[in-house]
Amino acid sequence: MAHTLPNLPYDYTALEPYIDAQTMEIHHGRHHKAYVDNLNKAIEGTEAEKLSLEDLMKNITNYPAAVRNNGGGHYNHSLFWTVLGNNGSKPSGKLADAIEAFGGLETLKEKVNAAGAARFGSGWAWVCVNNGKIEVCSTPNQDNPLMPDTGCNGTPIFGIDVWEHAYYLKYQNKRPDYLNAIWNVVNWEEVGKRFEAAL
Ligand code: MN
Repeated sequence: MAHTLPNLPYDYTALEPYIDAQTMEIHHGRHHKAYVDNLNKAIEGTEAEKLSLEDLMKNITNYPAAVRNNGGGHYNHSLFWTVLGNNGSKPSGKLADAIEAFGGLETLKEKVNAAGAARFGSGWAWVCVNNGKIEVCSTPNQDNPLMPDTGCNGTPIFGIDVWEHAYYLKYQNKRPDYLNAIWNVVNWEEVGKRFEAAL
């Protein structure tokens, strides 16, 4: 079955002033759409059409680069939109406990920002759940922790896109400023749901 571009669960302006509306419109409507369209082309008429997106990620080493890059792009952006947009929310419940066990929210932000800033070129910084604990890692390109050969383990519950297309219009070369700003628009309720589902 063909994959489809999910609707953005809020307006393009919802993450202002931290992420500008024009960036959101181009990022969702053009970049994410291109990953979906190119994934559909890459799997057309193959066995991969029968797999869910998540199963495709877990078995990605069986497929060519076009499936990896565009399938990863579709999975990563689908997650990304949902973990943003609840501006000013805070971690609660079991997720808040796990963040405390990690060293606290400020430590988590520091580690994620460091992972995102250190990623040379394009990629993602991730928060994963591995054996009930929170871990931070980074992947290149459109790889993600569901892929078995990235060195990033566990179930991703939060991720930050550090491709230049995610921030360049507003932040130009200042990736660290973008990383600092994005924490203002995290949807912690959604991250908490993903955390509990991953346990
Ligand atoms: Mn992107």
